[in-house]
Amino acid sequence: MPLHVLVLGGTTEARRLAERLVAVGEMPGVRVTSSLAGRVARPKLPPGGTRVGGFGGADGLAEWLRAHRVDAVIDATHPFAGTISFNAASAADAVHVPLLALRRPGWVPSDGDRWHPADSLAGAAELLPGLGRRVFLTTGRMGLAAFAGLDALWFLIRSVDAPEAPYPARMEVLLDRGPFTLDGERELIRRYGIDVLVTKDSGGDATAPKLTAAREAGIPVVVVRRPPVPDDVPVAGTPEEAVAWLRGLEGPGL
Ligand code: NAP
Repeated sequence: MPLHVLVLGGTTEARRLAERLVAVGEMPGVRVTSSLAGRVARPKLPPGGTRVGGFGGADGLAEWLRAHRVDAVIDATHPFAGTISFNAASAADAVHVPLLALRRPGWVPSDGDRWHPADSLAGAAELLPGLGRRVFLTTGRMGLAAFAGLDALWFLIRSVDAPEAPYPARMEVLLDRGPFTLDGERELIRRYGIDVLVTKDSGGDATAPKLTAAREAGIPVVVVRRPPVPDDVPVAGTPEEAVAWLRGLEGPGL
C-alpha cells in the first residue's frame, strides 16, 4: 500500500509540495491528497488527489484521517490560517498520525523600511489615519470590515475574488493573484498615489515585491503579525524539507 499523505493546502508551497510528490520517480511509494478550504472560486488545483471544503472541526478531520487511512499529514496552510493548524494538531494527535507543518518564514525588515507592526487587522486600521490617506490594502478580501469606518481614507484593495461588504466607502478593487513583480508593484504605487501599504506578514517570495516597492517609494508599511500556531509540531521551511521528512517516515527504502 502506498503511503497516503494529506496536504492541507491553499498556498504556493502546498501546491509545490504536491507537484514534488506526484513527480515521476520522486516518491513512488506515496499517494497525495491535497485539501483546500474552498474560499477561492476558481482555485489552481494541485496535481494528485484533491478535496475541497471544511472537515467539520478537529473531530471531523480526525474522522477523515481514519476513514481515508492517512499515514501522514502536512499542514501547508497559510500562516494566518490559525484554526486549521490547531485542528490538524489535535486530529493528528487523536489518531496517532505524524504531522509536519510546512511554514514559510516571516519577512524581515531591511535598511530603509518604515514598518509599523499591528497585532490584528483592527490594530492596522487604528494606525492608518496617522500614516497616510491613500492605502494599498493587500490583506485579502476577508476582514475588510475592520477598515469600513475609515471614511477619510481611500483604499486600493487587491484580492483574488471580489470582496463582500462591509468594506471601506472610498475604494477601488483590483482582482489579481500573485506572484507579483517589482515593476508591477512600483507602477501601482505610482499610478494610484499610494502613501501607505498594509500587509499581513505572509512571508515568501510571491508577494514580497510590494515591500521593496514601498521601501523605494519611502512609504510606511503596516505589517500585521502572525496569529499563534501550535508550537509542538515539527516545522519544515520548504517543500524540499517536507519531502525529506516524509522519506524519514518511510526509512531509507523509499
Ligand atoms: P482558518 O481560519 O484556519 O480555518 C477556518 C476553517 O476553514 C477551518 O476550521 C476548516 O474548516 C476550514 N479550512 C481551512 N483550511 C482548510 C483546508 N486546507 N482544507 C480544508 N478545510 C480547511 O483558515 P482561513 O484563514 O479561513 O484560510 C482558509 C484557507 O485559505 C486555508 O487553507 C489557507 O491556507 C488559505 N489561505 C488563507 C490566507 C489567510 O490570510 N488566512 C491567505 C491565503 C490562503 P473545518 O473546521 O470545517 O474543517
